[in-house]
Amino acid sequence: MTENDDKRIWDVVIIGGGPAGLAAALYSARAMRSTLVLEKEMPGGQIATTSEVEDYPGIPMTTGPELSMLMMEHAQRFGAQVEIGEEVTDVDLQEKIKRLRTYSGKTFLTKTIIIATGAAPRTLGVPGEDKLRGRGVSYCAVCDGPFFRHRPVAVIGGGDAAFDEALYLTKYASEVILIHRRDEFRAQRVLVDRARANPKMRFILDTVVEKINGDDSLESATLRNLKTGETQDLPLGGLFVYIGNIPNTSLFRTYVTEDENGYIQVDEAMATECPGVFVAGDVRKSPLKQIVTAAADGSIAALTADKYLDNLAEELTPEEALAYADSPASWEDSY
Ligand code: NAP
Repeated sequence: MTENDDKRIWDVVIIGGGPAGLAAALYSARAMRSTLVLEKEMPGGQIATTSEVEDYPGIPMTTGPELSMLMMEHAQRFGAQVEIGEEVTDVDLQEKIKRLRTYSGKTFLTKTIIIATGAAPRTLGVPGEDKLRGRGVSYCAVCDGPFFRHRPVAVIGGGDAAFDEALYLTKYASEVILIHRRDEFRAQRVLVDRARANPKMRFILDTVVEKINGDDSLESATLRNLKTGETQDLPLGGLFVYIGNIPNTSLFRTYVTEDENGYIQVDEAMATECPGVFVAGDVRKSPLKQIVTAAADGSIAALTADKYLDNLAEELTPEEALAYADSPASWEDSY
């Protein structure tokens, strides 16, 4: 990236290089729009750390990193530029020309942005969790459940997601042990009743996971009962953490509407109420969060941005664009 690029006005800048962002980049670049993806870590987002992917149509079995690289290369083939290690720290989205600044101090100008920043599953934060992520510790039952056929698995959490996913896992596992820190559940009664009636379900309550054990793959979890203080080692094939998600929306709050759980609300074309700002993937309010739905969102967001750009071209003269580009950014007021 050269200094001159700071003044370049992109058609589309996509924040986040997971499946939603990379699919958006593919569709946007293929629609002949100048397209930049800013990814703070590595391509793939949440799937970058998924060991096996067997539910992406047309690719019977692959790894998360492999699929991520394929998605990135596919977008680049059509001319999208992907900047890895660029974390967006400030945004100014009010005007027709939007401005983004990254941790490394670069500023980018763009006519549209697609927010594809994803959501991070809330983690337990216990020893062994990071090391065994993708090796028995999972945050996605639909993705990883089938790997644990006829083996005991644990689900951590007491909300709707924990119950939904625990019930889903009973299709595969020999036993599903739901471990919750209280003896009451946040989940809807109907789900709790259904789980209680399922012979494959067992409950360990008032209990937290203290440690997750295993060398190359998960072997057991050390549990502690909060009422008695007793600990036990529970042998497990899989451990699924469902203690809530944290959508990555903090940069955009003043421009978009979030639902009660912090997910960005969009219309069916992935548009927000902020002109030129679109959203795709796990960061948006949606009923299913999968690689295929993220990619679908990305394609829709890119084509909606493309239509917006058609209209914008009629309104925005090159002189106006330059004037916007030279005016101070909103974040300059706050420093
Ligand atoms: P949630 O409702 O926030 O529940 C999180 C659960 O994790 C709670 O039981 C909480 O325990 C527990 N928890 C939180 N932090 C923990 C920690 N550090 N260690 C151990 N346990 C911890 O999250 P969710 O289940 O992901 O659901 C999110 C939203 O999506 C909810 O509004 C839910 O209704 C909705 N949803 C709906 C459906 C459905 O309708 N079928 C399915 C999935 C999700 P406490 O109860 O003790 O705080």
